[in-house]
Amino acid sequence: MYVKELFVDNFRNLQKQKIEFCKGINIFYGLNAQGKSNLLESIRLLSMGRSFRGSKTTELIKFGEDYFYVKAIICQENNDKKIEFGYKKNENKVIKVNGNKIKSTSELLGQLFTVIFSPEDLNIIKEGPSYRRKYLDSCISVVEKNYLYNLMQYNRILINRNKLLKTIKEGKSRSILEVFDDQLVEYGAKIIVVRQSYLKNVEINIKKFLLEISNETAEIVYLNSVGLKDASDKEIVKKRLKEKLLKNIDLDLKYLTTQVGPHREDFKIIINGYDSRVYSSQGQQRTVALCLKLSEFEILKKETGEKPILLLDDVMSELDENRKKYILERLQGFQTFITHTTKRDLKGDCYFKISNGVVIKE
Ligand code: ATP
Ligand code: MG
Repeated sequence: MYVKELFVDNFRNLQKQKIEFCKGINIFYGLNAQGKSNLLESIRLLSMGRSFRGSKTTELIKFGEDYFYVKAIICQENNDKKIEFGYKKNENKVIKVNGNKIKSTSELLGQLFTVIFSPEDLNIIKEGPSYRRKYLDSCISVVEKNYLYNLMQYNRILINRNKLLKTIKEGKSRSILEVFDDQLVEYGAKIIVVRQSYLKNVEINIKKFLLEISNETAEIVYLNSVGLKDASDKEIVKKRLKEKLLKNIDLDLKYLTTQVGPHREDFKIIINGYDSRVYSSQGQQRTVALCLKLSEFEILKKETGEKPILLLDDVMSELDENRKKYILERLQGFQTFITHTTKRDLKGDCYFKISNGVVIKE
């Protein structure tokens, strides 16, 4: 698939305009703070329903205005598809596909497949477990239809269970807890089994990429909450999770939060035998992040049977010549959007200059 045309109105600093892209590598260049990342953000918004920079939807509205609107025409095997995203201050967002309103973000997830690379990806490698969980959840929710729904159910039950812990501490009977635990275990096990399978897939891919790029070995260790080396059997996972919940009840009551479950999980990326989070150099971590994204791309392509679109925000300048060459070779045949401060040293199929929110095709 590829994005043929984009229309933006009141989106961040971008001027109201229609932009036509080419099928291959689209390069956007311009000085700092001109709107390059904003442009990629608007495309990614149509793909995931939210900002890749973690901004709230209301922050995407141009300063001083009270709404924004973004529309794209996506080409898919000669079929054109229209995706629209509108948001007015203090109102609900309106998302439409081919003119039909869709009810939830999960419905949007199967419409436009993108993978984004940005310097912040380094956080997935460097920072705490919540960054990796968030990343994992967002990748899986695109390829597994019910994943986001199950995750939302799990989180809802978790909040209620934590509230219940408080009332139990205040003297209410424990008996009702079992109902919550059974529900939590049901959704929790679904999440764990899918995470296990996705991470196995990541491992196969990341091994290959890292070997090719830097001749290093890679391994993924899923630190699941049930302490299983292989958490792919749902019934076993359910049983183990239930046992863990029962075992931890005193701690749960002490801290008034649930100590075990998918909301506490993590995964490790082991490079040449060592945890990359702890031991890798900055450059190595950058390579690992890159390989992780390439794996995401491969899995997305395989699972959906579609060609995803690559969004590379400011990453080219940070890579050495070999890595740059490796990525550009792999991206042949896919639509790619690359932002860069200069036009030099990047070979693209079409170029756009961005200046003060205006995008001009050359
Ligand atoms: P860099 O090369 O530094 O990454 P960039 O071209 O990617 O720059 P953007 O992140 O796209 O820059 O931001 C462009 C400008 O948009 C910035 O000056 C930013 O302050 C501004 N901006 C951000 N949010 C809004 C908004 N809601 N309304 C208007 N302008 C905004
Ligand atoms: Mg930028």
